[in-house]
Amino acid sequence: MTTSLKQALKTHFGFDSFKSKLQEDVVKAVVRGDRDVFVCMPTGAGKSLCYQLPAVLAEGITLVISPLIALIRDQVDHLRDHNIPACSINSKLPAVERRLILADLGSSSPKLKLLYITPEMVASPSFQPCLTDLCSRSLLSHLAVDEAHCVSQWGHDFRPDYLKLGELRARLPGVPCLALTATAPKNVQEDIIQSLKLRLPLSFITPVFRNNLHYDVIFRELLPNPYVHLHAFIKKALMLDSGSNGQGCGIVYCRTREGCETVAYQLTKLGILSKAYHAGLKAGDRTEVQNEWMQGRVLVIVATISFGMGVDKANVRFVAHWNLAKSLTSYYQESGRAGRDGLPSSCRTYYSAKDKAQINFFICQDVNRRQRKRGSAKESDKAAITDFEAMVSFCEREGCRHATISKFFGDKTPNCAGACDFCSNPKVVQAQLARAAALRTN
Ligand code: ADP
Ligand code: MG
Ligand code: ZN
Repeated sequence: MTTSLKQALKTHFGFDSFKSKLQEDVVKAVVRGDRDVFVCMPTGAGKSLCYQLPAVLAEGITLVISPLIALIRDQVDHLRDHNIPACSINSKLPAVERRLILADLGSSSPKLKLLYITPEMVASPSFQPCLTDLCSRSLLSHLAVDEAHCVSQWGHDFRPDYLKLGELRARLPGVPCLALTATAPKNVQEDIIQSLKLRLPLSFITPVFRNNLHYDVIFRELLPNPYVHLHAFIKKALMLDSGSNGQGCGIVYCRTREGCETVAYQLTKLGILSKAYHAGLKAGDRTEVQNEWMQGRVLVIVATISFGMGVDKANVRFVAHWNLAKSLTSYYQESGRAGRDGLPSSCRTYYSAKDKAQINFFICQDVNRRQRKRGSAKESDKAAITDFEAMVSFCEREGCRHATISKFFGDKTPNCAGACDFCSNPKVVQAQLARAAALRTN
C-alpha cells in the first residue's frame, strides 16, 4: 500500500514524499476508514493533505467543513490546479453554479471528490436534503472537520455554528470522521472529541517537545540594564563573537509599538542592526522590514505578535519575549518559530511583575467588555484567564520549562536533558525567584 500511496501522492499532488511520518500515518488511517481520526499537528505540517489524498482515492465524496470562505477558496483553487474535482457551496455562490453542483451531487455517479462547506451551510435547510440523499446512497466517503478547535469554548476561536457539527456527525453514522487542528491544549482536544462525537478516535498528535529549543526566563526587574542583557543574549545566540560573521537571525516580541521602537533603537545603538515591525508602520514599510529580515540584511526584527503568521524561516536562532506572552498557547507558538531547521536555538522570556499586572488587567477588561455586551459569562472567558495563568506559572514556578509546556498540552513529560534553565541549573532559577520575592516585599 505504501508504494501505491506514494505514487498517488506524486500523481495527484506532485509531492515526492510525505512531509512527515505522522502525515503518512494519518493518510493511511484515513484511507483505511474503519475508525474516526483526530489530528493535532502544527500549522504548516500539511494537515489538508490528510483528507485530500484519501478523498481522491476513495469512492464517493469527502465533505469538508472549514470556518472561512477565504480558506475554502484557497483550497478549492489549489485542488483544481491539480485537476482534482473540488468545489464549495456557500452563501456567496451564484444560483446557477449552485444548481450545477447540486445536479452533479444528485446524479448516479457524481464527479465531485471534495465538497467544502462552512458550518452555517451545514445547518441550512436548503442543503439538508442533499446531504441526507448522499448519505442514503452511501456516497459520502469521509467527513473532515478542519480547524476543529472552533468547536471548543475553551479554544481561542470558538464558533457557535461548529457546535451543530455534533448533530451532523450523529446523522451520518457510517461515515468516518476526521477532525484536524493545530496545537491545542489538552482540554480543547477533549472538547473536540466529545463535541464532534468521535468514537474511540485514533489520535495523531505531534509531540510538543522540541529538544533543540533551550528555554529560560529572566526577571527583568532584577537587571541593572535590561537592554545590555538582551544584547549579550543575542550576541551569544547569533554567535557574533565567534570570529565568523555569525549566523542566523532572531525575533524579539514586544507588547506595544513603543516597546518595539525602543528595543530596536537600543539594540542598534549597542551594535546589532535591529528594526521594529508593528501595525503602526505603513504597509509598504512593514513588508520592507520583513524582507530585509528574511534576506538576512537585518539580523533582528523587533515585533508585536502581528509578525510571524505564515513566516517560515529555517535559521531563526532565538525568539526573545521582551514582554510576557498573553497565554502559554501563544507563547508556545511564538517561541516555536525558533529552530525550525532543527539546530540548537534559544527561547527566552524577560519576565516582570509589572507586565503581569498590566496584561492581567487588559485580559480582565476584555472579558468584562465581552460579558457586558453579551450579558452573561462564558467558558471561553475563563479560558483566556486560565491560559494566561499557565503562562505566569511557567515563569514563576520552579520546574522544567519543557515539562510545563508538555503537560499543558496533555503530552507526557519529555526528557529535557538540560534544555532549560531549571534542568541545567536549578539553583540559579531558585536564586532568581528568591531575589524577585525580596524585591516585592521591600
Ligand atoms: P496545515 O493545514 O497543517 O497548516 P497545509 O495543509 O496548509 O498545512 O499545508 C502546508 C503546506 O505544506 C502547503 O503548502 C502544502 O502544499 C505543503 N505540503 C503538504 N504536504 C506536503 C508534502 N507531502 N510534501 C511537500 N509539501 C507538502
Ligand atoms: Mg490547515
Ligand atoms: Zn528542563
